[in-house]
Amino acid sequence: MTWLIVLATIVGIGLAVYVFSRFAAGRGPRLVECPENHEPAAVSVNALKAAAGGRLELSQCSRWPEREQCGRECLTQIEQSVDGCLVRTMVTRWYDDKSCVVCRRAIGRVDWLDRKPALVGPEGALRQWQEVAPETLPTVLATHRPVCFDCYVAETFRQQHPELVIDNPWSSTSGQ
Ligand SMILES: [Zn+2]
Repeated sequence: MTWLIVLATIVGIGLAVYVFSRFAAGRGPRLVECPENHEPAAVSVNALKAAAGGRLELSQCSRWPEREQCGRECLTQIEQSVDGCLVRTMVTRWYDDKSCVVCRRAIGRVDWLDRKPALVGPEGALRQWQEVAPETLPTVLATHRPVCFDCYVAETFRQQHPELVIDNPWSSTSGQ
């Protein structure tokens, strides 16, 4: 009897961990092409329900509340996509083969927790990903360039406190 309880507990914990990891991986905005106007739209699904194996359900869309009565046909795109149309996955893939425009070092594997890379717009303005509306992703990826975390921090400081920044006059001539 005791063994049965232990076994049930282990299975229960395993199931909870599995559902939670699927929940964590499936959270966040997704980018779809709205079947109604064929424009990009940012949507979210009920991640907990999806993680538990339930039917996909839209919980948010950038075209709501105006188009809230739509047929939810974009769900097919999410179901058929390997990465579930997750914006985070698309952005991570974009950085994959890119180098920072400031220091020229490869961005490498993105650390979304502590050292998020940023981007610079065509007009030279630095931007962080939380400032980017997910539905504008295709345009942003086509017009912006990558900046690594270190350079983002340094450049932001330089722009906010130009009076405190003294460039090393020897760095470009001595070669050391
Ligand atoms: Zn850099």
